[in-house]
Amino acid sequence: MGILIKNGTVVSATESKSLDVLIEGETIACVDVGIGEDGHEVVDASGLLVMPGGIDVHTHLDMPFGGTTSADDYTTGTQAAAAGGTTMLIDFALQSQGHTMREAFDVWRAKSKGKACVDYSLHMAVTDLGLGDEAEGEQRGLREMEEMVAEGISSFKLFMAYPGVLMIDDGLMFKVMQKAAALNALCCVHAENGSAIDVVVAQMIAEGKTAPHYHALSRSPKAEAEATHRAIALADMAGAAVYIVHLSNEDSLAALKFMQSRGAKALAETCTQYLVLSIEDQMPGKSWDEAKYVFTPPLRERWNQAPLWDALADGALAVVSTDHCPFRFADQKELGRGDFRKIPNGGPGVENRLQILWHFGVNAGRISPERFVALSATNPAKIFGMEKQKGRIAEGLDADILLWDTKAEYTISAATQRMATDYSMFEGWKVVGNAAKVYSRGELVVDNVAQPGKFLGATGRGRFVKREANAGGFA
Ligand SMILES: [Zn+2]
Repeated sequence: MGILIKNGTVVSATESKSLDVLIEGETIACVDVGIGEDGHEVVDASGLLVMPGGIDVHTHLDMPFGGTTSADDYTTGTQAAAAGGTTMLIDFALQSQGHTMREAFDVWRAKSKGKACVDYSLHMAVTDLGLGDEAEGEQRGLREMEEMVAEGISSFKLFMAYPGVLMIDDGLMFKVMQKAAALNALCCVHAENGSAIDVVVAQMIAEGKTAPHYHALSRSPKAEAEATHRAIALADMAGAAVYIVHLSNEDSLAALKFMQSRGAKALAETCTQYLVLSIEDQMPGKSWDEAKYVFTPPLRERWNQAPLWDALADGALAVVSTDHCPFRFADQKELGRGDFRKIPNGGPGVENRLQILWHFGVNAGRISPERFVALSATNPAKIFGMEKQKGRIAEGLDADILLWDTKAEYTISAATQRMATDYSMFEGWKVVGNAAKVYSRGELVVDNVAQPGKFLGATGRGRFVKREANAGGFA
């Protein structure tokens, strides 16, 4: 028989109601008041919130960077996600220059094969369109975009930063955006003016400014704001929907809102770290320890946090993700001692996203529980073309369900986390509100009450989710 979750409060993006939820097999069979027990396994959710499992649309598992590889593979990364209540990830396949998107797709599918423990999908990062084909009159890469959409990859990532490695020029970006518009695909953009930033970086290194602190100072919020405006303007010209990833500061937010007010199909996420960490608090320029917080875009001045929270509440920002890209402090961040350019960029966060968003968002009165659900699950599913399968507690959808205990106290620490790093960005922080039980397609995969943090499912049970091209929900 099924699993019947009784006496809980079901929270959607718009309302909270006392409802029972019946799971049959991998799907939600019924959501109603007073569902009969009929021999089902009854789970008493008294006092708990019943929410859709979290969806983190920005992670980098098993990703090569500067001669090393991010510390979480698909097994530890997805298990850490589940421990924190997240049941679906979208990671990035990175096309390298001179190679095809198909190759990148195959490489990333191989990384996850037999390892992913919750469901996942991929964005395709486009770095090269290859040569033209005389017969078809179009570059190879543009045709490959069609193939990728057919594979269920309905979002393409474009980098305006990292010249010579990932950055593409405006012309190439515009071509991809035109093609994306024709395919109803979504363009995800890392918006920073990489060329200008590289000039500042070189000047700082020449002046002997090599500590982690200078990584943050070398990447001005203005460089991000300029690129944010440019990305949205180009997408608007091309008729494409655009999603700005990891928007970190008020200047960029102003650019986003301006273009939204002009009718551009523009969406954006921010990440947990920008909401609660700052240059002043985490990287004042005093020690090598600050390498733990070297990621891109960098931490900003603390005053930027309030406008980001306001934008999460009022809808200018649609999603909170993590940009989870973990590197160990002892032997990986170490690669950049004496030269901040060589510090692997990224931090561990996938496990703590919901805890941080709840504690500093809902508990602090900045967002409602319904908005929490919208930002963490419902909007990501809608924007990224999987709302018929994920992101809501509704009949027929995958039974990715989170039983959330609003009173549970939890202390974040590297000593107890599932992520494979030797540090936490939130070490020792006490939060209130945590996942009690987590179901992935109807299977109880985490029970933080009985066996805290332990992954109860089989390794490799996670499935690749094909996503529809729906132009970020604007279609
Ligand atoms: Zn990223």
